[in-house]
Amino acid sequence: MIPLSLARTAIAACGTLLADGHGEDEVRAVTIDSRSITGGELFVAITGDRVDGHDYAKQALDAGATGVLIENDERALATGADPARLIRVPSTQDGLGLLAKDSLARIRQIASPLVVGVTGSVGKTTTKDLLASVLAGRGPIIAPPGSFNNELGLPLTVLRADETTATLVLEMGADRIGNLEHLTSIAPLDIGAVLAVARAHLGEFGGIENVAKAKSELVSGILPGGTAVLNADDHRVRAMSAKASTVLTFSASGNGDVFASDIVVGADGRASFTLHHSGSSARVDLGLVGEHHVSNALAAAAVALAAGLPLDEIAAGLSGLGASSPHRMDVWSAGDLTVIDDSYNANPDSMRAGLRALAQLTGEGRSLAVLGAMLELGEDSDREHEAIGREVAALGIDTLIAVDAPSLAAGARSAGVETLEAASVSEAWPLLLERADSGTILFKGSNGSKIWQLADRLKEQL
Ligand code: ATP
Ligand code: MG
Repeated sequence: MIPLSLARTAIAACGTLLADGHGEDEVRAVTIDSRSITGGELFVAITGDRVDGHDYAKQALDAGATGVLIENDERALATGADPARLIRVPSTQDGLGLLAKDSLARIRQIASPLVVGVTGSVGKTTTKDLLASVLAGRGPIIAPPGSFNNELGLPLTVLRADETTATLVLEMGADRIGNLEHLTSIAPLDIGAVLAVARAHLGEFGGIENVAKAKSELVSGILPGGTAVLNADDHRVRAMSAKASTVLTFSASGNGDVFASDIVVGADGRASFTLHHSGSSARVDLGLVGEHHVSNALAAAAVALAAGLPLDEIAAGLSGLGASSPHRMDVWSAGDLTVIDDSYNANPDSMRAGLRALAQLTGEGRSLAVLGAMLELGEDSDREHEAIGREVAALGIDTLIAVDAPSLAAGARSAGVETLEAASVSEAWPLLLERADSGTILFKGSNGSKIWQLADRLKEQL
């Protein structure tokens, strides 16, 4: 952020300082973690399930924070914090959003950062990481770590930008209607990409058409003169072009402005392809495992083309990104065993992509899928799980360990797959250990299914 006085910070957050005396002091950064304070920050007190930031108001000031944004004065004052450094707002989460919005608007008055947002049911973090690799050549870039994509992570990322920032890459998550309208009101976009409308969080949304509606809010959040980057392979995403003035489409099947041909998946599971746009082409060798990342790479390429980058530079940037984040298509080996650890999360689309990667990576040896449940599927849950079980069979995977996922197990067993069932990860552990000496293993399930614990434990053991 561009530094701001405490008094101006209060105005920007639509709040009031509880007392006079430090209004001219400077705020140079914003944090919600009192442990990260080094001096000059505004500490935003968030009330969480287990911890209430208000209890750390004095501690934050003692560590050097310029001020604290609060919504509960009694609780903050009880710590002995100086009221002349406390800004009260109705909601600290909303206040944080207002500060981020104000910060970006002030940057835009004196500089022209390129602001890019990515949404979709799958592939946001991967595409964001690819984009950070491709757009780094434009100059100083701010992109969030991990999946910082909600009403806290997004404003905190925006607040890291200042007038020297050339590119701001934002991951934008949505689990209900209105989320993206809110996030794009904080950070209106120069370029916005929508990757896919899949069956993630279906229960919360109440139907896939509502998911599409929610994602389309990103397109409405693009600034006049900006570009919408849309996945032409997903008809619900393609239809969003009606809401955009300038559109660039991408397609892994050859039907978009930016498309791939000659896709080859190597024995190591990494895909390479020829990237095409407007009659030009360049070869891309992805460092990421799984053919599904071709689509994410095309999305990143389309954004970079909209930003004016040349095709060969884009191809080099896409090829430059190595292994992904922990538990996301993280492939490792020990002796004769190869592990695909994709246990970070799962929905039907990413489950299928993970299983395809398992089938592709398994050479002569045996293949084992260790799968947990896909949560948040609502009333379709049993049907979707059975279908994944049948997919395990269709892909020729030898063995399934289903962890607390009876419909998945039933689908696989009825289609002839050797199927073992465990009620919990601890029950699954001995079943896994017996079969973990060779071959290829995929770990995957929704985060809440805790399949990642099995992957971590196996890695420690070997
Ligand atoms: P989250 O909503 O949890 O932040 P995300 O949208 O950021 O997820 P990623 O973290 O990039 O998505 O990927 C999540 C999972 O989906 C991984 O298992 C990944 O391999 C898989 N995946 C990524 N892109 C695709 C795709 N285009 N098609 C199918 N699966 C995909
Ligand atoms: Mg993510």
